[in-house]
Amino acid sequence: MKAAEPTLKKEALPMKPDTPVQYVKGVGPKTAEKFLRLGVETLADLLQLYPRRYIDYTRPFPVAQAPFDADAVVKAAVYSKKAAVRLPGGRTMVQVLAGDDSASLSLTWFNTHFMADKLAVGEEYYFEGRVRGTLTRREIANPTVRTAAQVARTPMVAVYPQTEGLGSGQIARCVASALEGADPLPEPLPPALLAKYKLPGKWEAVRAIHCPEAPEAAAAARRRLTFEELLTLQLGLILLRSRGAAQAGAPMRGVDLAPFWASLPFAPTAAQRRAAAEICADMAGAAPLNRLLQGDVGSGKTLVAAAGVYMAHQNGYQSALMAPTEILAAQHADTLEKLLGPFGVRVALLTGGMKAAAKRAALAAVAAGEADLVVGTHAVLSTGVEFARLGFAVVDEQHRFGVRQRGLLAGKAQSPHVLVMSATPIPRTLGLLLYGDLDISILDELPPGRKPVKTRAVRGEKRRAMYGFLNAQIEAGRQVYIVCPRVEEGEADGPDALNAVKTYYKEVAQALLPGRRVGLMHGKLKPREKAAVMEAFKAGELDALVSTTVIEVGVDVPNAAVMVIENAERYGLSALHQLRGRVGRGAQESWCFLVSDHGGESVRERLQFLCHTQDGFEIAKYDLEHRGPGDFFGDRQHGLPTLQLADLTADTRALEAAQKSARELLGQDPKLAAPGHQVLAAQVERLFRRTTFN
Ligand code: ADP
Ligand code: MG
Repeated sequence: MKAAEPTLKKEALPMKPDTPVQYVKGVGPKTAEKFLRLGVETLADLLQLYPRRYIDYTRPFPVAQAPFDADAVVKAAVYSKKAAVRLPGGRTMVQVLAGDDSASLSLTWFNTHFMADKLAVGEEYYFEGRVRGTLTRREIANPTVRTAAQVARTPMVAVYPQTEGLGSGQIARCVASALEGADPLPEPLPPALLAKYKLPGKWEAVRAIHCPEAPEAAAAARRRLTFEELLTLQLGLILLRSRGAAQAGAPMRGVDLAPFWASLPFAPTAAQRRAAAEICADMAGAAPLNRLLQGDVGSGKTLVAAAGVYMAHQNGYQSALMAPTEILAAQHADTLEKLLGPFGVRVALLTGGMKAAAKRAALAAVAAGEADLVVGTHAVLSTGVEFARLGFAVVDEQHRFGVRQRGLLAGKAQSPHVLVMSATPIPRTLGLLLYGDLDISILDELPPGRKPVKTRAVRGEKRRAMYGFLNAQIEAGRQVYIVCPRVEEGEADGPDALNAVKTYYKEVAQALLPGRRVGLMHGKLKPREKAAVMEAFKAGELDALVSTTVIEVGVDVPNAAVMVIENAERYGLSALHQLRGRVGRGAQESWCFLVSDHGGESVRERLQFLCHTQDGFEIAKYDLEHRGPGDFFGDRQHGLPTLQLADLTADTRALEAAQKSARELLGQDPKLAAPGHQVLAAQVERLFRRTTFN
C-alpha cells in the first residue's frame, strides 16, 4: 500500500512543526487522510500522538520463566529449523526449535516464513508473543523476531493505539521518520516551571516517549508530558471561565434573605446560610455566579437554590432549574412552589412528557415573563424555550449532565448566573478537574436530628424475615421503598423488559405484604402515571413502593423509613448511597437492606463497606479505587476534552501541581498574551477546539 503512494521529495530541508503530516517521509496523502481522522494534521500533531505502552526488550525472560498466556519477550538461541509444510486448506507452517539453558521453546509461523528464513541456527534472538503450552512444552505462534542489533537501536518498542486503519507499526514508522527530519518542537513550558518540577525539555521528552532507552526514561518523559497536558487543560478551563467573567452578570443588588429564612418551618443549617450568602454575594458582584454546590444526599441543597431564586426574583429576574428526571422536576416544582409561592414567585413546570397544550401554555408564560421560575427536565434546554428575563439558572445533580449542557442553559440568558448542584460527592482530585472552572460551596452539615441509616447486607433466604420487619414498620405508620431491577440477568431489553420489576411486584411484594397498599413505579409509565404514583406515595396513600432506580436521585418523602435494594450487587456504591439517601430524611430511625445472593468476595466486601459508612466522600473514593472512573461516571459524558496521557485518578499530584501553576501563570499573564506563552496558548486552543465544549 505504501508503494502506491507518491513519495514527495523532501531532501535535507528540516520540517517545521506545522508542516502538513502528508509531507513526512513515508506518509503520503492516503495515510495523511487516516491521520486526519485521528486529529493529526501536522508534523507536531504526529509527534504528539503518544504511545499507549511499550514492548520492553530490555528485560527479556529466560524461556522457563516466561509467563503463560501473556505477551512476553523471550531471549533464546535457534537450535534447528524444519522445512515449511503445507497444511490442509492451503496454509503453510514453519517450525523452529529454540531455547536457552532453562528450557526449550517451539516457534511456529503460519503462512509466513520470511521471519523464520532470516533466522540463523546457533544465533540468539528476541522473540515476542504469547507463550502457550505446558511446563514441559512451551510454544509461541507467530512471534515477532528482533536481533540484538535491532534491540540495541530500539530497546523499547512503542505501541500506538490502532485506529482508522492505521496499525501501530505503521504509526511507529511515520513517527520515526518525523523525528529524524524535524526541527525540534518548541518548548511551551516557561523555564521557571521546568526548573521547579525538574522536568525534561519538550523535545527531549517527545523523543524519549517515542523511543525510550529504558523504562525510567519513558517514565520521566511521560511525567513531563502528562504535566503539560494537565496544565493545558487547567489553563483552558480557567480561561473559559474568565471569558464568561468578562461579561457582567445580570446586574443584581444584594438582598436581605432574612424574610425568606423566617418563612421556613425550620431553621436553615449554618452550612446552608453560608452557601446561600456566597451565592448571593456572587450574584451581586461584577462577575457572574459560576458555582458548584456540593453536599451529601439530604443536606438540603434545594433550599439553597431556593434562596438564590428568591434573590433573583427580588431583583425582577426569572430563574430556571433543571433536573435529571421528570419525577424530580415535578417534586422540585412542588417544593419550590411551597417555599416561594408566598413571596409571589410563580412556578411553571416544563417536561418532555407534558401534553402539548400544557407545554404551550407554560412556554408562553415563560416568554411573557408571567412565570418567575421554570422547573424542568432537559426539555428546558430545547430550542423552543425563550425566557423573558432569565437571570439565574440552576442545574441539579450536575454529575448527570455534561459540561456542555451546563453551558447551553447558561446560553439562554444574556448574562447568566449559573449554580450547579451535585449530591454525588466527587473526590477532590476529580472535582478539581471537572469543576476547575467553578467556585465551590460545600454543605458539610446535615439538618439536625438526622440519624444514620442502619444498613444491613442480607441474603435472599432472609427475605421473608425482612418482609416481616417491613410489615411491622408499616404497622407503625412508616413507608418503605423496594428497589429492584427492571430486567432479569441476561434478558433482552425487549417488550419483556419490565418482567423483573412487575413479577417481583406481584409475586413477592404483594404476596409478602398482604393487605398493604403497594404501588409500582418504573420508567415506562407515562409521565402522568408516574406523577400520580409519586403523589399517592407522598400523600401516604401507599405503604410500599416497588420501583426501579428511577427514584434514585432526589426524591424526598420524609416519612419513608426503609429502603430495600434487591440485587444490590448490580450497583456502584455511589448509586446505592443515593438510593439509601431516600430514607433517613425525617427524625425517625431508618433502615436500608442490601439484598444480594452474589457470593463473590469483592461484592460482599463492597456491601459491607456501605453498611459501615455513611460518608459520601469515603464511598465515592472507594468506588473510584475499586471500580475506576468509568463506572463512577457511568457512560455519561462529562464533556471534558479527551486526554492522551493523564490518568485522572492516578495522577493526583500532577493534577494539583498543574492547577496551581495554571493559576500562577494566568495571574501574571491573564490572557496568555506574552510572547513567551504563545506556544502554550496555541496548545490550549487546540485541546479545546477538538471537544464539544462550546
Ligand atoms: P438534597 O441535598 O439531597 O437535595 P433536599 O434539598 O432534598 O436534600 O433536602 C432533604 C430534606 O431535608 C427535605 O425534606 C428538606 O425539606 C429537609 N431540610 C432541608 N433543610 C433543612 C433544615 N435546615 N432543617 C430541617 N430540614 C431540612
Ligand atoms: Mg436534591
